[in-house]
Amino acid sequence: MRTAIVTGGASGIGRAVCRELGGRGVHVVVADLDGAGAERVAGEIGGSGVRLDVTDARAVEDLVTGVRDDRGRLDFVFNNAGIAVGGTAEELTLDHWNRTIDVNLRGVVHGVHAAYPVMIRQGFGHIVNTASLAGLVPTPMMAPYAATKHAVVGLSLALRTEAAAHGVKVSVVCPGFVDTPLLDHVNPGLPRTRTGTSARRSAIRAQGRLYSADALAGDIMRGLARDRALIVVPASGRLAWLGARLSPSLAVRVASLAVRRLGRDRRSGDSS
Ligand code: NAD
Repeated sequence: MRTAIVTGGASGIGRAVCRELGGRGVHVVVADLDGAGAERVAGEIGGSGVRLDVTDARAVEDLVTGVRDDRGRLDFVFNNAGIAVGGTAEELTLDHWNRTIDVNLRGVVHGVHAAYPVMIRQGFGHIVNTASLAGLVPTPMMAPYAATKHAVVGLSLALRTEAAAHGVKVSVVCPGFVDTPLLDHVNPGLPRTRTGTSARRSAIRAQGRLYSADALAGDIMRGLARDRALIVVPASGRLAWLGARLSPSLAVRVASLAVRRLGRDRRSGDSS
């Protein structure tokens, strides 16, 4: 039976991916910092749930080798766990930077480092890393997040070019905003910032109907079936990406407008 590990599988995008995989007859190991949540999702799909902190390289390694030993194969590893960190650069502390790098970048590195040798030995497997549209286009007020997501895109594309020779596939998922609890938990366990929390959240919500995690999970499955290097979704995200490639400087100017608008809103808020 095909087997997958999904980190961050207790919530949002990870949970939707677990359900898609479960529905396709894949045995899913749901791994999350929220162990009870992981077990709940696993219970719904007949998989197994474990508590995992992706910042702990040893724990990630033990999980990957344990799953390979128990199940006899490892078809997919979704390095999906991540946190949202937001605020203008002057508001952010080094803790904001370090925590983002630890979870969003090192967490993915740990998953890749553990799973890649296993998949090379098998001669097959698919590593799927969740980055973000913020890994492809300029995204103000979330510099650490954007930095880690660009790094995950770079890591994934580089690895993909090497992995093909071993029969191993690598894809990276770059969604625009998705309606998940992440949007309500900006800077978890970190100092609050004015621009990273409620102001940012309401601006995102005000953009209208958000892309759902279920729709994204379906798009991810279609992208994986076609062995896409980059899965950039929804269509509005692909348009933004195209704009940034056609004119990087125009994309920066457009993003700067959002920063200026925020500055104006702040000044009018301060004076009222
Ligand atoms: P979410 O908050 O709903 O789910 C994230 C899950 O990751 C949670 O269950 C959380 O407990 C888990 N997690 C956090 N830190 C962890 C750690 N150290 N070890 C293990 N698990 C940990 O968020 P989501 O929106 O589903 O995000 C999933 C991924 O998608 C993230 O990498 C995020 O950056 C990315 N993403 C989200 C959006 C969006 O708008 N929601 C857009 C683009 C990319």
